[in-house]
Amino acid sequence: MRGNKKKVYLDYNSTTPIDKRVLEEMLPFFTEKFGNASSISHAYGWDAEEGVELARDRVAKLINAKSNEIYFTSGGTESINLALLGICKANESKGNHLITCQTEHKAVLDTCEQLIQNGTDITYLPVSKSGNIDLQQLQESITKQTIAVCLMHANNEIGTIHPLAKISKITRESNVLLVTDASQSAGKIPLDVDAYGVDIAILSAHKMYGPKGVGALYVRSGVQLTPMHYGGGQERKLRPGTLNTPGIVGFGKAAELCHMEMQKDADRLQKLIELIEYEFAEEPGIHINGENGQRLPHVTNLTFENIDGSRLIRTLKNLAVSQSSACSSNTLKPSHVLTAIGHDPLLALSSLRIGIGRFTTKNEVRLAIGDIMNAVDQLKLTAP
Ligand code: PLP
Repeated sequence: MRGNKKKVYLDYNSTTPIDKRVLEEMLPFFTEKFGNASSISHAYGWDAEEGVELARDRVAKLINAKSNEIYFTSGGTESINLALLGICKANESKGNHLITCQTEHKAVLDTCEQLIQNGTDITYLPVSKSGNIDLQQLQESITKQTIAVCLMHANNEIGTIHPLAKISKITRESNVLLVTDASQSAGKIPLDVDAYGVDIAILSAHKMYGPKGVGALYVRSGVQLTPMHYGGGQERKLRPGTLNTPGIVGFGKAAELCHMEMQKDADRLQKLIELIEYEFAEEPGIHINGENGQRLPHVTNLTFENIDGSRLIRTLKNLAVSQSSACSSNTLKPSHVLTAIGHDPLLALSSLRIGIGRFTTKNEVRLAIGDIMNAVDQLKLTAP
């Protein structure tokens, strides 16, 4: 970023900085504890294995799972691929139908595209203005061929939370699996896989102050998944390959910190988001996306009528905010989430996602509000 003014990071839904306490715990696993967690014949391997198993316990505790239901992967995207491709393959004899919704992350939507090539039938449920699915419509979409329902816990662009406990009542009654992408929610809001009736959950460490390139898949005991890779048999043969010990150790520490500090962080961040939304709600031509639904406490998504979104981002030189989700920000396509909640494509392009987190201060939020207000006023004046 250019300029001398203080830079403010407001893109915590894209990624988070590593908490220093996480980094501290990781460091020895790069140097003196560098062993391969699968080397069971010496102390270097035992140290690494101990680190990995502690991390597994901590990640399991965060979502109220059992440790042996956690499998480490390279991140949310890999976990999603393994979950969806793996259950479809394992359940070929049961059926070939999957239900998801239009506002899922690209990692889910693109995996579904691949599944369609393989002969799977996919139903994409529409969503309301607040980003919620209609539960009656979900129930009616389930057929004898349905293997699973895949619905994200919280949306990465507008923060809408799907009511997993209500959804699992439907899936359980129909004997269908519930898969949830919890990359954005885990560590931010409670996720109790037992109480919510989730069968498979996807987690990503870098969204919760842990390192990039590490994730996990929660698979309820008894649920069958076919592996997508073959090799040394690690992760009980579901995800073979030498484990990324420092990354996994960091993920474990991050999960422990989130477990301990989630409520405190959420309460503080919710107040800061309310401050932002209060300021913008008063302004004509500004909409808060997903406003009336249950949402993540640390994100807001605003649409500005008659403002060019790209020019707005360029004007906000000192703010790291996102025009859409990070994964599609190289293309100037309107966000599929914003069009799914009813915005026309032009309006969808005139939107900002503000994601705050553990290290965001009130002062930074105030600075951001002032900068955005000024930029909007300036762009309104210069609009053709
Ligand atoms: N799912 C959601 C909802 C996300 O926001 C992301 C990251 O942007 C992912 C999946 C992908 O996770 P990862 O970056 O760990 O591959």
